[in-house]
Amino acid sequence: MQATVPTGTLVGVDAVPVEVQADVSAGLPLFGIVGLADAAVMEARDRVRAALRSSGYDFPNARVIVNLAPAPLRKHGTGFDLPIALAVLCATGQLPTETFSNVSAVGELGLDGSVRSVPGMLAHAVAANGRGMDLLGPAAAADVVGAVPELRYRPVDSIGAVRAGLPGRRSHTSDAPAADVQADVDLADIAGHETAKRCLEIAAAGGHNLLLVGPPGSGKTMLARAMCGLLPPLTPNERLEAALVQSVAGRDPRASLAGVRPFRAPHHSCSIAGLVGGGTPPLPGEISLAHTGVLFLDEFPEFGPATLQSLRQPLEEGAVTLVRACGVVRYPSRVTLVAAMNPCRCGYQGDPARSCSCSSPMIAQYKARIGGPLYDRMDLSIRVDRIDPSLLIDEIASPSSTEAARARVLAAREFGRSRPPVGVRASLTRSARHLLEAGARGASLSGRAVTRLLGVARTIADMSASARVEEEHVGEALGYRAWEYQ
Ligand SMILES: [Zn+2]
Repeated sequence: MQATVPTGTLVGVDAVPVEVQADVSAGLPLFGIVGLADAAVMEARDRVRAALRSSGYDFPNARVIVNLAPAPLRKHGTGFDLPIALAVLCATGQLPTETFSNVSAVGELGLDGSVRSVPGMLAHAVAANGRGMDLLGPAAAADVVGAVPELRYRPVDSIGAVRAGLPGRRSHTSDAPAADVQADVDLADIAGHETAKRCLEIAAAGGHNLLLVGPPGSGKTMLARAMCGLLPPLTPNERLEAALVQSVAGRDPRASLAGVRPFRAPHHSCSIAGLVGGGTPPLPGEISLAHTGVLFLDEFPEFGPATLQSLRQPLEEGAVTLVRACGVVRYPSRVTLVAAMNPCRCGYQGDPARSCSCSSPMIAQYKARIGGPLYDRMDLSIRVDRIDPSLLIDEIASPSSTEAARARVLAAREFGRSRPPVGVRASLTRSARHLLEAGARGASLSGRAVTRLLGVARTIADMSASARVEEEHVGEALGYRAWEYQ
């Protein structure tokens, strides 16, 4: 007898439909799986056999062939356990074959028959819902998949529980927990650094990337951590996008579903695959885990040169594209990049208190490690110096707070949406244009750098509710590229 159970396999953040077909026939006892399955799927044979027996089902003493269709698609992961077991039960008459005409199944089996969550439960939920199907899966994932509106989920603790028929549908949903700000560092807690805080605000208002340059211990990491709190609340769609990445990476997606923007700070020894994604089977990298949030790269020039250059395409396109023998995998990667570096190898170039031991060629070489094209993508770059100890000792209250800054960010974004959609070049005043030309020529800015600079000037104008981009806005934007040319 034959039976079919629908399921899916992960490709990027999507669960691509797969049919599990089981054929049970007389012959020497055999349990084979065909259809481009990886090692974890092949191991399903042992788990399925043990799980069925310990749950009181019969495992057929016959020839059992499981085919995963379509055959050319590479299948990976342990989520095939449950659909394989169900297909065998249907093919041996222990469950009615028509049960799975409109139900997709996914889950890992324990030897005792328990059903467990697998990476990408959320992707399976989105896929099943998109195909108009119910989803049968582990009870433990019920709250996570509940984030998919209108999904009909059938939660099950163990495979023994389906003997009496499928568990009831659970249509969601309780709304995701209240979102909002949980910045772990508030701007009010950071003494001094008013220029850097202004830059954080501009970066948050315009979605710009930021480079902080300063000696060790000047507070660059604190400033980067404060960034998440300045960004506007995530839309429901953005929450789902971010949660899908966490889910397929095998991480808990609940914080993303609740609207918490991710903050990722990989070490500079991070590999290319670790930063932008890769591996077999492919997994999202840090830049995708930071999707909708902040990617913080401390000791920026210490990252491998190839690793740094691998950031260019994902930063430009907002998505990582990995070309694999089995096809193309895409992960979203829309991040605010905050990078930090010392001004030179010893860290003290330009420091008023300590002297730098680096020669000028050494400093130039150190800066050059980032590379012009990547540097151009850092819209704002500023020096962050160690602050006067008296500011720390006297605990002078900072005039800025995350709450107030975030309100200004939201207002600037709102102004940007409401003003006439004129190109930034057309909204330059005559004097702003002159200043831009002079500045770009004086600093030999590349075409890309000029475009980026215009974007920053536009954001600064939006922050002062000005439809035109004035000379002062361009002047301030130019000031945030100054470090490059010292
Ligand atoms: Zn130095």
